[in-house]
Amino acid sequence: MIQAKAYAAQTPETDLAPWGFERREVGPHDVQIEILFCGVCHSDLHQIKNDWFPGIFPMVPGHEIVGKIVKVGDHVKKFKVDELAGVGCMVDSCQVCENCKDGLEQYCLEGSTQTYNSNDRSGVPTYGGYSNTIVVREEFVLHVSDKLPLAATAPLLCAGITTYSPLRHWKVGKGHKLAVLGLGGLGHMGVKFGAAFGAEVTVLSTSPSKEVEAKALGAHHFVVTSDPEHVKAVSGSFDFILDTVSAEHDMNLYLSLLRTNGTLIGVGVPSQPYSIQPFSLLAGRKSMAGSGIGGIPETQEMLDFCAEHNIVSDIELIDIKDITASYERMLKGDVRYRFVIDMATL
Ligand code: NAP
Ligand code: ZN
Repeated sequence: MIQAKAYAAQTPETDLAPWGFERREVGPHDVQIEILFCGVCHSDLHQIKNDWFPGIFPMVPGHEIVGKIVKVGDHVKKFKVDELAGVGCMVDSCQVCENCKDGLEQYCLEGSTQTYNSNDRSGVPTYGGYSNTIVVREEFVLHVSDKLPLAATAPLLCAGITTYSPLRHWKVGKGHKLAVLGLGGLGHMGVKFGAAFGAEVTVLSTSPSKEVEAKALGAHHFVVTSDPEHVKAVSGSFDFILDTVSAEHDMNLYLSLLRTNGTLIGVGVPSQPYSIQPFSLLAGRKSMAGSGIGGIPETQEMLDFCAEHNIVSDIELIDIKDITASYERMLKGDVRYRFVIDMATL
């Protein structure tokens, strides 16, 4: 077994702290990565706090992983030692169901294995990227460009693909008015991709202080959602709303901002169910949809698109010892726009 170092939560009530554990040996189809940077996703905090379901503890969060390959199994074809590589939210799936065959491993009919807070196919808990090393089967490892700054590439593995995939699926682009609701880790990538695809992008935010930066990210308009006059001015105007909000919010209000036939795409995962009035949808034949991360082929496509168009995340690099303080700031919407852990500080 491989001895690994990490930061783990021992229970939902305790802060993350150093922890040692074992990873499996590198099998014939596995790649071992020395983790250099790991992004901090709001999903990490939701899961440590059991916001969605009872978690598996100790929990080592982290699913925005980039690093250097240090070992490959005998049958590995696509990767070599010393190359850069990334791992996102999944580390395995059945590989044979219709969704896996379509490159939609995130919707594997048997359930995909998550990078952490999941049991692998032999029943062993998975541990994520707040760690010095990880062993992953080749099919779930991504090529990462050496032309982009590596730390700022890490968040593409979750925040990037989670916003790229629905915008591609709904073919959002030229001629569309896209609103991005919530300007955090996911939201700021939604703005970058929406603008890159040619849409007219509006940020809907609770934080007036983010206006100047939102425009620097590529947004054309900025609406403060606590200002009723400001909100009224965009009523019935958007073709799509990409909803990245992590906490409870008034879905009926946001549905009223869609034009006829508009679609609200939910990617945020608040801990409570949405409360939606039937009229919010039927008046204007509106749709409410959801989207989960993205499959492996599309994740590679997104990483290649980012390398070609020079797109990365805007990040604040942190020492792993500051992880609890960073969670507190993230909860307040006070991050520009993604914390990334420098794993050299572990
Ligand atoms: P984040 O960085 O904390 O961003 C969330 C943003 O939502 C905040 O910056 C804030 O933006 C806004 N917000 C927060 N509380 C709000 C409230 N009560 N009302 C209105 N707006 C509020 O989080 P993230 O990492 O981007 O993740 C966002 C959500 O997506 C989380 O629930 C996460 O679990 C989920 N997620 C889903 C997937 C998927 O596959 N679908 C993948 C990854 C993450 P403003 O300051 O601009 O208002
Ligand atoms: Zn995530």
